[in-house]
Amino acid sequence: MPTSLARPKLVILDRDGVINQDSPDFVKSPDEWIPLPGALEAIARMHQAGYRVVIATNQSGLGRGLFDAATLNAIHAKLKTKLAKANGVVDAIFICPHAPHEGCACRKPLPGMYRSIAQRFEVDLQGVPSVGDSLRDLQAAAAAGCLPWLVLTGNGPKTLAKGGLPDGTVVWQDLAAVAEALEVAVHPEEH
Ligand SMILES: [Mg+2]
Ligand SMILES: [Zn+2]
Repeated sequence: MPTSLARPKLVILDRDGVINQDSPDFVKSPDEWIPLPGALEAIARMHQAGYRVVIATNQSGLGRGLFDAATLNAIHAKLKTKLAKANGVVDAIFICPHAPHEGCACRKPLPGMYRSIAQRFEVDLQGVPSVGDSLRDLQAAAAAGCLPWLVLTGNGPKTLAKGGLPDGTVVWQDLAAVAEALEVAVHPEEH
């Protein structure tokens, strides 16, 4: 594994259950998009530590016809506005819009979105942390060569209890704990 200094300063985040409250009924409108406590501040800390922050999210609600692309854009506009107020930035949001039956290559647990991220940012994903709350996030991360990091928000506790996690999975309490870990990786002398 590359050292923390050699790896690209990029972090990949799942959205629902990691940044905002998940819902079994899907997040279908800006009003239903509710940030988790401390999550936006955590992203701001990652950004300020010099990390590019990329979101990779399955949004099968599009493919299922539960909401349209304009609504998803409005949801992400809310995310970015709230994040900006916390002095945070996301560098990109990658979306799988497909329903499961469409058999695409981008829906996690497949690593298609990760391949696209690697191309867009011209980085090797080896050693790049990828944070999720569901098994499929960790599986996609591992398949792409990322570090599978599980947070115990959203589905995280259930995911941990169920087990079968990819080798090398690291468990964190929440996105704030992830931000702290990334800050330590950047400035070990300050901690
Ligand atoms: Mg999730
Ligand atoms: Zn897809």
